[in-house]
Amino acid sequence: MELHCRTAVYCCYFVTILLVLLSITSTKAEAEEDPSSIISRFQQYLQINTAHPHPHYSQAADFILSQAQSLSLETRTLEFVQGKPLIFLKWPGSDPDLPSILLNSHTDVVTVEQEKWSHPPFGAHIDRQGNIYARGSQDMKCVGMQYLEAIRKLKASGFQPVRSVYLSFVPDEEIGGRDGAEKFAASDAFKNLNVGIVLDEGLASPNENYRMFYAERRAWPLVIRATGQPGHGAKLYDNTAMENLLRSIESVRRFRASQFDLVKAGLKAEGEVISVNMGFVMNLQPSEAEAGFDIRVPPTADPEPLERRIAEEWAPASRNMTFELRRFKQKVSLHAKFGKPVLNVTDISNPWWTLLEEAVRKANGKLGQPEIFPASTDARQFRQQGLPAIGFSPMANTPILLHDHDEFLNQDEYLKGIDVYGSIIKAYASYIDHTRKEAPRDEL
Ligand SMILES: [Zn+2]
Repeated sequence: MELHCRTAVYCCYFVTILLVLLSITSTKAEAEEDPSSIISRFQQYLQINTAHPHPHYSQAADFILSQAQSLSLETRTLEFVQGKPLIFLKWPGSDPDLPSILLNSHTDVVTVEQEKWSHPPFGAHIDRQGNIYARGSQDMKCVGMQYLEAIRKLKASGFQPVRSVYLSFVPDEEIGGRDGAEKFAASDAFKNLNVGIVLDEGLASPNENYRMFYAERRAWPLVIRATGQPGHGAKLYDNTAMENLLRSIESVRRFRASQFDLVKAGLKAEGEVISVNMGFVMNLQPSEAEAGFDIRVPPTADPEPLERRIAEEWAPASRNMTFELRRFKQKVSLHAKFGKPVLNVTDISNPWWTLLEEAVRKANGKLGQPEIFPASTDARQFRQQGLPAIGFSPMANTPILLHDHDEFLNQDEYLKGIDVYGSIIKAYASYIDHTRKEAPRDEL
């Protein structure tokens, strides 16, 4: 009998231990989802063809809404322009009075030259190295999905945000954002979100350091026009339109080379110089010739000397030349303090920058020096509203392939990025500033 009793006791122990073990593994399974289903959701998003000129926006919207539903996020669809839905999602914070976090991404991608790809650009094929091939794998469907996956993980871990977290999935970034982020950032719907910080896209990094962008260069499309006297083709003339234009082009070329030399010598980063690329030269009539340039100006550059150079050297009235310059007027002066550029995000008094650095480090990520984005992104629409916006796409050890053939992202890098975002969202959404009242928007 005693023997029986003991057996029963042992049995009891055994069953208890077994139950404890089972419960541990099941909690673990809840928190640590099988990576293959995470990757498969990324593939599904990549497989929706949202390339211009005919992006399948409604399909992308349906997909995002279904993801949001599975995460119990509040959803809203805005359509500033018919057929171009903008989805925004909310994870409510416990203190709705604190400024919120906005995680922005665009749903569109640039067009593809199908025949130049090794794998179909909307197939999301994974090769043996784990590289996922698809248009948008870097720019920027990865980021949109990583936000959602990070929230999935945070929710599974029981995390509750103090600040509200919003996600916006916007159309048309690749064609200038006029019907997307531009209208959104200027809308009442946006104002009501009381956003304190925006995260948007960055670039892949070929080395181990993630890249961070606190500002971006602005496009200054320039057309210069030369007018000369019309004349017989067989006669030699002074001051012909083409001759005058070529003199200007030579002057632009010299300026371009001087800026490029600074980059080549390692004195300045790509985003810190003024770049000029020539777009076209055309002869309108025998007496008129024009050339178009794509100029990119960093916010750190003083625009006045450049404007003067254009008026006096590149298109001087003294040589019968005129010009059209579309330049963007900064609502928020970047030269506000003592004539020095105000770089709002890296400013030490701005808590978001430090929080992000710490959060990336906590997730075992490394950061490079903050940079100026060499091209344009939707982040400028939010910076225009006086908000700090950080460009960040967690892709280290990855060649920069946005807009290129065979764009890919490695699945391990993608999964790592989810943890990095998890760490950032957690830090941002639980941040409470005890030391001072939060600055009103236009002071940020
Ligand atoms: Zn992009």
